[in-house]
Amino acid sequence: MSDPEDCVFCRIIRHEIPAREVQRDADVVAFHDLNPQAPTHILVVPTMHADHLSEFNAKASSELKSKLFAAAADIGGRFQRDGQGYRVVINEGSDGGQTVGHLHLHVLAGRHLTWPPG
Ligand code: AMP
Ligand code: ZN
Repeated sequence: MSDPEDCVFCRIIRHEIPAREVQRDADVVAFHDLNPQAPTHILVVPTMHADHLSEFNAKASSELKSKLFAAAADIGGRFQRDGQGYRVVINEGSDGGQTVGHLHLHVLAGRHLTWPPG
């Protein structure tokens, strides 16, 4: 498990490094990605550190799980252009393309996104 002391998203949650926050409460924080891949690219993170989805799934309450999903859907709904939709992505591990070891949901919107991913 990565150390929450050094975790970049835990540091954002603790206000130790800046981020363009979209919303925050005790359980979930959302902020703009530093390197956006779409006109809107927001990361939705639980304030509880979990390295990835598998760890979060094992340790989070049902209430927190549903709250995280609801936050992603709410942000997607708010930031999509003209009801055109959005994408939510979770990367896990090296094959999944994960680069930050704190679970985060990518919410991408504002352009047509192709499929399949590379
Ligand atoms: P992933 O590759 O799924 O682990 O995604 C990590 C994401 O975090 C990437 O899209 C990065 O651009 C983003 N990121 C890394 N550091 C920061 C930061 N300090 N503030 C905002 N986004 C970040
Ligand atoms: Zn963390």
